[in-house]
Amino acid sequence: MEESRAERSLRIAHRVVEVLDRGGKTQSYKYVTLLALMDVLVAATADGTVPTTLDARRIGERVVEIYWRQTRPLGDQLLRHSSQNGALLDRIAAFQQDHNQKWYADMATSTGALDGDAARQWRQLKADAISRVCRDPLPRLQVIGGDSDPFLYRVWEPGQTGWAGVTGTARQQLHLDADAAVALLDTHLLLRPLIERALLSFVLHRSPQTPKEGTVERILFGVDRRALSRLTQPLKALNGNACFYCQAKGGHFQVDHFLPWSYTRDDGIHNLVPAHAQCNASKSNRLAAVEHLNRWGGWLDHRADDLHELATNKRWPRDRPHTVGMARSLYLTPAAEDTPTWVAPLQFSPLVTAAARSVLDDITM
Ligand SMILES: [Zn+2]
Repeated sequence: MEESRAERSLRIAHRVVEVLDRGGKTQSYKYVTLLALMDVLVAATADGTVPTTLDARRIGERVVEIYWRQTRPLGDQLLRHSSQNGALLDRIAAFQQDHNQKWYADMATSTGALDGDAARQWRQLKADAISRVCRDPLPRLQVIGGDSDPFLYRVWEPGQTGWAGVTGTARQQLHLDADAAVALLDTHLLLRPLIERALLSFVLHRSPQTPKEGTVERILFGVDRRALSRLTQPLKALNGNACFYCQAKGGHFQVDHFLPWSYTRDDGIHNLVPAHAQCNASKSNRLAAVEHLNRWGGWLDHRADDLHELATNKRWPRDRPHTVGMARSLYLTPAAEDTPTWVAPLQFSPLVTAAARSVLDDITM
């Protein structure tokens, strides 16, 4: 009997879980690289097509971005990602401290404003990090028990006549296996928490204190509420002081993650909308109904410049292709059909993915 798409995707996802379970565990690179690979793939589908190649350099950059956010101190300690000193996280944290950078700030905006020695130091740090990721784990991720099984991608070096193997230069490209690309897109929302769990237990195991798990999760994957609340007033003002969902003014406002944070871990400016505390609490971790999705598309377009400026002023992370790619993943997966979406407090409607698709196809990157 021929394998269905769902069966194939789950089989490939199972191989990814094997990658998590096996192999060397002295560094957190493997987990972060897998997250980065999925992030870059999801962002590359924001225009509605599944890519066949990804730049190794972009994945390396994404690894640096993920670590940039994970340098948030726990008490007066850093979370330990490595059993060795001098690892990437420690270098990034030291750089942030030396140059008055903030862990929650947008890496590209913050480091783009550096000049002189600071800019040079940052370029060097980033180049080292990218070549580190390109050398290992990117080519070695698919070596399981000593055997290489390139079930996700092959590494291609431009100018060479064959597959590159483990040379580790940032010019390399990943040629994705077509089935694997679809499988990762179908299952990344399932895989993400599993990879996060693996990273979390890795970090907890090495932490000098024993923090609460929820605390570490927030540190690893999210901004804190205090940082988020700095955006409540400006976002509210951008929406004419009205709630994004019910359109009413007045009352207590919060920042809501339009695409639920528990699925996407996306704190980027494009995923944030102003909402009443009651609307926010009622929506909780559900998908917003297609009518809200449609309004969100309009918000992204009409407020594009304002959101860009707000992110720059507050040095807030922004990654529109990533956020739009996440929206496509959440709304268009076959499994989303008929799931209840949130309209208003105590009001839900079943998702029609075809309707979501026609809205999403109009949302530009
Ligand atoms: Zn409201």
